[in-house]
Amino acid sequence: MERTVIADTVNKISQTVLLKGWVNTRRDHGKIVFLDLRDRSGLVQVVATPEIAGKIGPEWVITVAGVVKNRPEKLVNPKIPTGTVEIEAKGIDVLAQSETPPFPLETEGHDIDEETRLKYRYLDLRRPRLQRNLRLRNEVIQKMRRYLLERGFWEVETPILTKATPEGARDFLVPSRLQPGNFYALPQSPQQYKQLLMVAGVEKYFQIARCFRDEDPRADRAYGEFTQLDIEMSFVAQEEIRNLVEELYIEIVTEIFPGKKISQIPFPALTYAEAMKKYGTDKPDLRKDKNDPNELAFGWIVDFPLFEWKEQENRWDAMHHPFTAPKAEDIDFLYYGDPKDFGKLRADQYDFVLNGFEIGGGSIRIADPKLQARIFEILGHSPANIEKKFGHLLSAFRYGVPPHGGIAPGIDRFLMVILNEPTLREVIAFPTSASGRTAVMEAPSNVDEEQLKELKIKIPQK
Ligand code: ASP
Repeated sequence: MERTVIADTVNKISQTVLLKGWVNTRRDHGKIVFLDLRDRSGLVQVVATPEIAGKIGPEWVITVAGVVKNRPEKLVNPKIPTGTVEIEAKGIDVLAQSETPPFPLETEGHDIDEETRLKYRYLDLRRPRLQRNLRLRNEVIQKMRRYLLERGFWEVETPILTKATPEGARDFLVPSRLQPGNFYALPQSPQQYKQLLMVAGVEKYFQIARCFRDEDPRADRAYGEFTQLDIEMSFVAQEEIRNLVEELYIEIVTEIFPGKKISQIPFPALTYAEAMKKYGTDKPDLRKDKNDPNELAFGWIVDFPLFEWKEQENRWDAMHHPFTAPKAEDIDFLYYGDPKDFGKLRADQYDFVLNGFEIGGGSIRIADPKLQARIFEILGHSPANIEKKFGHLLSAFRYGVPPHGGIAPGIDRFLMVILNEPTLREVIAFPTSASGRTAVMEAPSNVDEEQLKELKIKIPQK
């Protein structure tokens, strides 16, 4: 017999069905046993005799052959979609037994120690809240793909084993066996590759991209890796990129989160100076009612300073990243102005904010190799260093580079906000814990002496 998924049982009154799933709970009532059976689509009550139910317990994997019955009026359970029916079991097969799980799975789970939840993440993910989060994350990502593909974008993958791209964080390094002593860096973002794709004539690029940054974790910043919708376009102005993203997010909210209300459309745009003056932050919470869990206040912060002063290093640093274009009217000042006043210069940069969180950022890029080299120089790179670290980009720009720009909205942070979750880890299948260990696998871990030898790496004895 073909399998019926649990959500469909309500359409099969009086029919014999074959269900497959996990036992959510077992309740013994003398002559009858109630088993709540769970699959990805939902939960249904199974009624069995003690003989048929045997020793079956929570989280066992079983198949149930049975008849779908309407429940008497007063036994209807309004809390579940299949609450009007129950399954009268005729036979049960056990596919796998289960030990008693280390923590309850039918609760929200917020109160359970997080390290334990992550150690047994494959069980933790069975709870309905996390199933919902995974399903909605998937729907958001599929929507992003469809939306961009319909508009002529190409999805292009870029390398994970690569060279450092500065986004202002520490790099993760990977040693090379073929070239001992040399290291790959995991990309802090695909920034340089997406710009090279513009030189290559791709014109409209996107990628659901994984980015790696060795930064200290916070609730709204994942340790190690995160996912962003990386976008780059040629022959565009800032407004076109912002409109593209704005329309995408309006569609995501209306189609996938219809219970949510967007405070203001079009999304308001504030200059960095206005935001700082009025709210004291560059990611203001623009909600009208901050107690409303369903209000979404999207907004844009524009005209960022090009540079910020790094007191400790006694030098200018890029506010976004070094590939961000200055405002056209500010370019001359970079060559002829007093470096003391570089803090006044503005960038063609825009941040995307939601309810007090930065959920993305982007910029129009520098497409002039001379100007790009000048920026690197202001940031304190020697000519030799510029050649070594960025020579590839400067040389690509000598072969006909189109004007281009892009943006990268973060997927984890958006989901955290829209799902009202307290941390990013609640919207990621296998996140890294706050102490930097990966879920279930508990990396980083020791490696064999042999592997280190091949890489010609010596760990100093403590
Ligand atoms: N690469 C930037 C980031 O990851 C986004 C962009 O400028 O497109 O923050």
